[in-house]
Order: sequence, then structure tokens, then C-alpha cells
Amino acid sequence: MQPPRKILLNPGPATTSATVKEALVQSDICPREREFGDLMQEIATDLVRVVSGDTDEYVAVLFAGSGTAAMEACVASLPGPGKKILIVENGAYGTRMRQIAEIYEIPVVSYRILYGDYPDLSQVEALIAADDISHVFVVHHETTTGMLNPVADISRLAFRYGREIVVDAMSSLGGIPINVQETPYDYIISSANKCLQGMPGLSFVICKRKSLMAGGKKRRSYYLDLPAQYQGFHSTHQMPFTPPVQVAYALRQALREFFAEGQEGRSARYRKNFDILYAGLKALGFGFLLPPEQESGILLAVCEMDHPAFSFDDLHDFLYARGFTIYPGKGAKEATFRLSILGDLYPEDIHSFLKHLKEYLVQSGIPHGKNESA
Ligand SMILES: *Cc1c(COP(=O)(O)O)cnc(C)c1O
Repeated sequence: MQPPRKILLNPGPATTSATVKEALVQSDICPREREFGDLMQEIATDLVRVVSGDTDEYVAVLFAGSGTAAMEACVASLPGPGKKILIVENGAYGTRMRQIAEIYEIPVVSYRILYGDYPDLSQVEALIAADDISHVFVVHHETTTGMLNPVADISRLAFRYGREIVVDAMSSLGGIPINVQETPYDYIISSANKCLQGMPGLSFVICKRKSLMAGGKKRRSYYLDLPAQYQGFHSTHQMPFTPPVQVAYALRQALREFFAEGQEGRSARYRKNFDILYAGLKALGFGFLLPPEQESGILLAVCEMDHPAFSFDDLHDFLYARGFTIYPGKGAKEATFRLSILGDLYPEDIHSFLKHLKEYLVQSGIPHGKNESA
């Protein structure tokens, strides 16, 4: 029996399909069995397919843990001794990468601008050009603000100077096409529970095999050791440490649903949901943090209404009681709250959300849009 369906407008863990939820219930199995190794191999191969990669050139390395585990595995494993990493920091996830580096005492140069400001490529290039930079870390879709960072442009700069590029594609992979044949990223980080629409508990790094195998790295973590995690699975067909078994079955189902819908189909559905949300909010009188051309089309940072009766917490509770979850802001340059359409959501869900949002505004006596008397 399925529990009641909820509409999650937080940026993951997302609303999942009934079939992904059902995939969690499986016969108990020891993850050291060949059958389970085959499942993990199938997932890894499919993840490479998501980025249109060739399995001779790219591999996917999975970790038990939320997305931050895979971020930490990259930061802790990749830079060699005496090397510096460059981080493009225009949101909380860029900041998180810097903080991880600081904990491991990895020298880091941060291109730090306000959350919501767009990176200036010539300034980024000047930092990439410094001799001792070995890796450039950048967030694809900055979930803090909804900004789509120019990762392909930054990658081209990194390649020009012989730096490796690490992309945090946590909240974009599956929702926005990423094609390693067009831009051969060295490392792409993501997790099961955002645009891939699986359950939380597994994160992964899709790695260019040549970069992963290259020497000159430094081992700093026992558990979050990217090359060792790959070698461990590759040589034994077993995950080195206990994986979240049921979550893996759900991810396999989510990947099957991704390929059935197709990247184009999923992107189109997300785009449609986003456009409905954007137009609906605008009609209700809301403004947005970013100009339209910088929007990811996956998450919208909405400016809080400048009205004494508007309260995010009240709005949250009103909507939550009706089955909708909205998300607070996170340090953007203006006071915002966030709405994300990633997940198994459809236009009728967004229309229904907008209807309830309007009801809240009416009930609170907050003017909403052009037809205030309506
Ligand atoms: C969600 C997210 C993460 C990871 O968050 P977890 O809570 O550890 O899963 C990292 N980067 C970005 C851009 C994200 O959206």
C-alpha cells in the first residue's frame, strides 16, 4: 500500500514515483553476493550513460552517504602534496567545498563573490593560471540561488592551463543534460536523490578513468578515498564498506525510469514545471533573485514579500499541512525562499501548489498580483 503522495518543492530528497518507493522492498541480501555486485555494476554503468560517457573512458564510483560524502571524497583524495585547489564560491555549496578543504588543510584559493553574483570568467582565468593550482572545483547548479554556473566555459579554461576540473552536479545531473563528449569533465559529483529521483543514501563520482588512475594524489581519508573505493569494487565486485542495499535497488529503478523518460523528456518536463511556477509566482506579485538568463530552470530563489503579514514560517506551515513542502533561503544576497521542481512532479502539481499559495495570500490579507480584488 502506498503512503499519501507529497509534493516536495525542496531541492531533494525529492518526490519519488510509486515504483521507486516499491523498489525499496526486496528480499534481504548480503551485499557481498555476486548478485548484489552485479546490481552495483549496472548502476555504475548506467550513471556513465547518463552523461553520455564511454565506459572505457569513464567510471562511476559509489559511496554510502549523502551528496557531501562524494564531495568530500573528491576534495580529500585528488590534490597532490604541495598543490592548491581553486574553488568557485558563489553559493553555500562552493563554501562547503572550501570548508572541507580547510579541514583537510589543503591549500585553497577561493574565487569568492556574493551568493547570487555571476562568475566573471576573466577573473576566474587569472586564478586558474597560477602555477600551483592542480584542480578547479565548481558547482554546476548552485542550489543556494538557482544559478546555473558557466561550467563548460570554466572547464575550457581549466583544460587550457592543464588543470583538472571537478564539477558538483548534485542538483543538475539528470535534470540538465551533461555530456562528457562535448565537455570532458574529469570528475562529476552527484547523488541518487535529486534529479535522478531515487532515495537518499548513495552518492557518486563519475570519473574520467585516466584522471582517476593518474598518480600524484594524496590519501587523507580512510573511508572517503576515491581511488581506493574504485579499486576495491573493481577488484572484488563488492563494495568495500556496507552499502545502503535497499537504496541501491531504488536507484536502479530510478535509473530505469530516467532512461524510459529520456534526458530530453525529463528536461522538457522540468522546464514545463518551472515555466508554470515562474509565471504563476510572477502573476501573484513575487520577484526573483536572479535574472531569467541565469536561472537553472530547476530551482527558483523567490524574494520574500515586503509585507508585514508575510512570514515564511507561516507560509511553510500552511502549505505543509496541505501536502506541499517549501524550502527556506540560504545566505543569498537578498532575503529569499526557495522552490524546486526537481522530482517526480507534473504540471498539475505545480498548478495545485499555486492555488494553495494564493489561498494563503488571500487569507493573510497580502496583496497578490495585478487583480488584487479577485
Ligand atoms: C544537495 C547538494 C549537495 C549535497 O548535499 P547533501 O545534503 O549532502 O546530499 C551538494 N551540492 C549541491 C549543489 C547540492 O544541491
